[in-house]
Amino acid sequence: MSARPLAIFGGTFDPVHIGHLTVAWEAAELLDAEVRLMPANVPPHRAAPLASAAERVAMLRAALAGQPRLVLDARELERDGPSYTIDTLIELRAEQNDRPLVLLLGADAFAGLPTWHCWRELFDVAHIGVLSRPGVPAVLSDELLHEVVPRRSDDVDALRGQPAGMVIELTVTPLEISATRIRELLAAGRDPRYLLPTGLFDTPALLAPYRD
Ligand code: ATP
Repeated sequence: MSARPLAIFGGTFDPVHIGHLTVAWEAAELLDAEVRLMPANVPPHRAAPLASAAERVAMLRAALAGQPRLVLDARELERDGPSYTIDTLIELRAEQNDRPLVLLLGADAFAGLPTWHCWRELFDVAHIGVLSRPGVPAVLSDELLHEVVPRRSDDVDALRGQPAGMVIELTVTPLEISATRIRELLAAGRDPRYLLPTGLFDTPALLAPYRD
C-alpha cells in the first residue's frame, strides 16, 4: 500500500499567521500530502482564544483563499466541549480507511504531548510529523522519548506504506513567529503586516478582536 497521506494541523489559530502557513505548506510538499488546518474549540490545555470560533474560521478562510493545498476542516468547532485530538483522529480514521494519517505538530506542541488526553493512543491512529520551530528548547521527557524512539524514521515512503504509528521530523523553514507576539503587536496599535497572510488585511474587521 502507498497512499497519499492526509495530514492534520490543529491549533487555536488566534490568529493564523505566516509561520503556520509556511510550515503547513512545506509539510504538504515534503509528504506529498493533503493538509487540513483544524481550528480547535476549547483547547483542553490552554487559555481560551481572544477571537471567537467564527472569527477564527473567517480568518482561516481569508488566509487560505486562492490555493488548493491547504484546506480548512472546522469539525472540532461543531463539537461541544473540549476538542480532544484523539477523538478527531478516530473519526478521521473511520472515514479514511487505511489511508496514512499524519498529525502535524510544532516542536513545542510535540514536547507537550504527554499532557494530552490519551496521548499514547494517538500512535494507533496516526503518524506524527514534528515541524521544526525556532526558539523552542528541544527537551523531550523520558516518557515521550520511550514512546517515540522506536517509532522514529526519516523515510517518507515507509510512512506512506502504513496507516499510523511512526514519528517523522520534518525540517521546515524556521520562522520565529507566534500568535502571542502578533496579538501583543496588534494590541499595542502596531501593524504586523508581513507576519500575517495578506487576506487578513483585506477585511479590517477580521483583526478587530485583537485591537484595543
Ligand atoms: P500562541 O502564540 O497563541 O500559543 P501559536 O503561534 O503557537 O499560538 P497555535 O495555533 O497555538 O499557534 O499553533 C498551532 C500549531 O502550529 C502548533 O503545533 C504549533 O507548534 C505550530 N506552530 C505555530 N507557529 C509555528 C512556527 N512559527 N513554526 C512551526 N510551528 C508553528
